[in-house]
Amino acid sequence: MSDKLLEGYKRFKDGYYAQNKDRIRELAQDQRPSYVLITCCDARLEPSLIFDTEPGDLFVIRNVANLVPPYEVEGSYHGTSAALQFAITVLEVPEIIVLGHSRCGGIRSLVMDQDKMEKDSFISRWMSIVAPVAGLADPDKLNDPKTFTHCEQAAVGYSLRNLMTYPWIASRVEAGTLKLNGWHYNIYSGALKRVHDQDTISTMVEASEDASSD
Ligand SMILES: [Zn+2]
Repeated sequence: MSDKLLEGYKRFKDGYYAQNKDRIRELAQDQRPSYVLITCCDARLEPSLIFDTEPGDLFVIRNVANLVPPYEVEGSYHGTSAALQFAITVLEVPEIIVLGHSRCGGIRSLVMDQDKMEKDSFISRWMSIVAPVAGLADPDKLNDPKTFTHCEQAAVGYSLRNLMTYPWIASRVEAGTLKLNGWHYNIYSGALKRVHDQDTISTMVEASEDASSD
């Protein structure tokens, strides 16, 4: 099975690598990506193909359902938070995009399998970051992909809101040196939709602060 990968590697080494050797070796000295892209592990999403980017352009953080957990400093292991910290505080990447997608298995499992999933399931625990999203799905319309699209887009909003709980992200956003955006990609039609931008995120954060002060 790995033959497919090794054959592909040979084509890459003899082709792309050979044609771009100088640039790739220059890039090996330092990385200065322009974007942090937080997206799903889903095999059908290929960021460098979708955005036609080159090595060095995107700092990609992938996890189930492209979620950002809230800022926490207790002793757990935080892969996504560690990657964000490196990208923002060390590399000073100026823009973060949370990219959700259609037919996301993580969001689907949150909506459909909530009762069936074991409480100690890694997926269930991870998806609880956006637990309220499950309540947005109309139980009478679970055959309609749009039902899940609504949840996927709402989950992007939760992740953006969680990004603002990281002090070194919030301070940069407030200083105007970091932009946050939320997009949704349709893996069937290829359509890309902007679902949140800086203004709507600010509104969401203000709304949640209002709600929590009640
Ligand atoms: Zn997904």
